[in-house]
Amino acid sequence: VAAKTEEFDVAVVGGGPAGSTLAALVAKQGHRVVVLEKENFPRYQIGESLLPSTIHGVCRLSGAADDLAEAGFPLKRGGTFRWGARPEPWTFAFSVSPRMAGPTSVAYQVERSKFDDILLKNARKQGADVREGCSVRGLIEEGERVRGLTYSGADGSEREIRAKYVVDASGNKSRLYNKVGGTREYSDFFRSLALFGYFENGKRMPQPNRFNILCVAFESGWFWYIPLSDTLTSVGAVVRREMADKIQGDPEKALRALIDECPMIADYLSEATRVTEGQYGEIRVRKDYSYHQTTFTRPGMMLVGDAACFVDPVFSSGVHLATYSSLLAARSLNSVLEGKVDEDAAMKEFEARYRREYGVFYEFLVSFYEMHRDENSYFWQAKKVTANTEPELQAFVELIGGVSSGEQGLMNAEALGERLAENSEEFATAVEKYAANDDGSSVPLFSSSVVRNAMQEAGQVQMRALLGEDAEPEAPMFPGGLVSSADGLYWLPSTTA
Ligand code: FAD
Repeated sequence: VAAKTEEFDVAVVGGGPAGSTLAALVAKQGHRVVVLEKENFPRYQIGESLLPSTIHGVCRLSGAADDLAEAGFPLKRGGTFRWGARPEPWTFAFSVSPRMAGPTSVAYQVERSKFDDILLKNARKQGADVREGCSVRGLIEEGERVRGLTYSGADGSEREIRAKYVVDASGNKSRLYNKVGGTREYSDFFRSLALFGYFENGKRMPQPNRFNILCVAFESGWFWYIPLSDTLTSVGAVVRREMADKIQGDPEKALRALIDECPMIADYLSEATRVTEGQYGEIRVRKDYSYHQTTFTRPGMMLVGDAACFVDPVFSSGVHLATYSSLLAARSLNSVLEGKVDEDAAMKEFEARYRREYGVFYEFLVSFYEMHRDENSYFWQAKKVTANTEPELQAFVELIGGVSSGEQGLMNAEALGERLAENSEEFATAVEKYAANDDGSSVPLFSSSVVRNAMQEAGQVQMRALLGEDAEPEAPMFPGGLVSSADGLYWLPSTTA
């Protein structure tokens, strides 16, 4: 029996934050978009701590911001870290000063089952045809070009969709990503393992930091402690990959032993009980989650979100990269579908900007790890930038350097090592300067250049989403590159190029 074939402009694989955001941003421009999601939402996912630009920038553009605001997620003003040389925890705030905290200098801590469901419903609201319980099986290819996909429908029938573009947003377990070409390169530096579970009635930090993410470094690695409501907390340990064997046996015991090793987390959980039922009842393990695909596009196909790359959970960059890459991809698709920009230029712009954003976070996170030293720790010794890690970083920075700073000629191993060390020191100095104040003032996020660089693009997206036509015109990223339109939904040729 011939499979039923339908036609769309864009077929999106996966309805996580990347897929639903892309679908909303393209469908709202009137294009025919289908989203195929293999689960029935709401479904569990990790990645609960967000950055402000996702909510006030990308989700404002996609139309989801008001629904998110109504959902009542806890407001995250920043992060509190027991990390680096200071024995006391220190706090950074998204706002310039805690007293100036405005409505857009906060992010949310989210239960992903709820958050992702709101975004997927929004994609539907913006006009996308969202189909849950539909698992994509493969691509339809004609020579180099991808022309569509095959999937099994909710009723188990095999189906076919022809589309001008297929976007793989199916996350880290994607089975399509390697069809784009290139290879998935796993990071040695961030080669860790995460073990996580959920607790009721863990302690809370005093206001205004009650709903901040708390990250605590200890000998075997570091913990996240994310308050998801007044009583529910997500708790995870990031440790060396080699721990995998120990954890196979009894994850409950392994997590307990790690908690006992970390006095601050043990204290926060001293009166808490682990959730043992429902979506939060399981102790889960994730490993090998830091990687990037060496190419993100092929004619007729793009990768966004975790299908393309992910770096490390310490600074909540996952959902940011997922939704930001979808914004970039949506601009490219909207522009090409309407004949505003040719395909090659649009794809090149998408890939160059996405790689730069991944790259600045990668570099920032290396500096962040470098800031914490523990001479006796196997985990932290491995996180020192050494001759062994530099070639990997160098290769990576060169990859992005070509399109971003034009500095790649300067990027020999020594210069890179120095720059990372300087970044790290500058950040540590900023922490020292603010955190040492007895008035409890927090470290402004933008107080050091490495953080400023990492947050620059996110800040821009947020600013432009708020200001629209009134935003400053932006400069192209490379000679002849494109710039975003005032409404943020297209690329335009740069007038300064
Ligand atoms: P996903 O959220 O994985 O969504 C992909 C969707 O595709 C899923 O719904 C899946 O069911 C669907 N799918 C898969 N295959 C198919 C198929 N064949 N057909 C149809 N549908 C399919 N990020 C943060 O921002 N903050 C954090 O605090 C944070 N903590 C993290 C902690 C850990 C330990 C890890 C590993 C990651 C963390 N992340 C965090 C990262 C975050 O989880 C991801 O970056 C984010 O979920 C990526 O979104 P996505 O839409 O690309 O993919």
